[in-house]
Amino acid sequence: MNPVVLVTGSSRGIGRATIIEFAKKGYDVVINYVSRKEEALALKKIIEDDYPVQVLAIPADVSKEEEVKNMVEEIIQTFGHIDCLVNNAGIAIDTTFEEKTVENFRRTFDVNLIGTFLVSKYVGKYMQEKKQGTIINISSTNGIDTIYPESLDYDASKAGVISLTKNLALQYAPDIRVNSIAPGWVLTEMNRDLDEKFVESEKKKCLLKRFAEPEEIAKVVVFLASSDASYINGEVIRVDGGFHV
Ligand code: NAD
Repeated sequence: MNPVVLVTGSSRGIGRATIIEFAKKGYDVVINYVSRKEEALALKKIIEDDYPVQVLAIPADVSKEEEVKNMVEEIIQTFGHIDCLVNNAGIAIDTTFEEKTVENFRRTFDVNLIGTFLVSKYVGKYMQEKKQGTIINISSTNGIDTIYPESLDYDASKAGVISLTKNLALQYAPDIRVNSIAPGWVLTEMNRDLDEKFVESEKKKCLLKRFAEPEEIAKVVVFLASSDASYINGEVIRVDGGFHV
């Protein structure tokens, strides 16, 4: 019986790379998406063609409780268990400080923080029944450092994800390990609208002089899920190429 992993927001970017890394390790994988059905189904086909694992692709907005509940029920009906949850779904609404609205703030919190709570709550219930599992929450270095006031809503949501990680580790101890990863800049569509000059200046600040590839985050997720990380719990791991040094 293969272990089962759910990665939220996994039709593209870090989530997509994470699905592929888990499939390589022999996990049955659940791709979650909101609107990008074609990309999710294309990824499903790639995995099915290349790896001897089962794949589900389920639409659900992680900020909507009913959709999360239905998604988790479908996974349990199909596989009977979930061994790993990666709370990866996230948004960043780029605006200046002056343009920032309450709606921007609320939506960012709804997806990044409340979404992480909701999926953890419904998946955690089944993990507790089996007395095993692991949860990995994708935060950000923005949740630790204070660098860009333009992203204060995103930063607060990601700081919240770190706090949530520690509380969930306490809540689910000793059976379920809960950890967080704080990536620095990663080459994904989330950053596609950034000004070129800004990107170059950010690369210069990083000791490795480049953004991360999504796979470089995905490999850390898979490590945290593995028994090699069996004594890592309630922790936040920076993966930022030495940006903050
Ligand atoms: P991305 O925009 O490519 O991926 C985000 C994914 O989340 C998309 O697939 C999107 O459809 C999905 N998503 C958005 N709202 C959702 C919702 N309500 N329900 C379900 N899915 C939803 O960006 P990415 O860089 O791959 O981001 C993945 C995670 O990594 C995010 O949590 C992001 O905050 C975090 N992160 C990214 C960077 C970076 O530089 N790219 C840095 C640090 C942290």
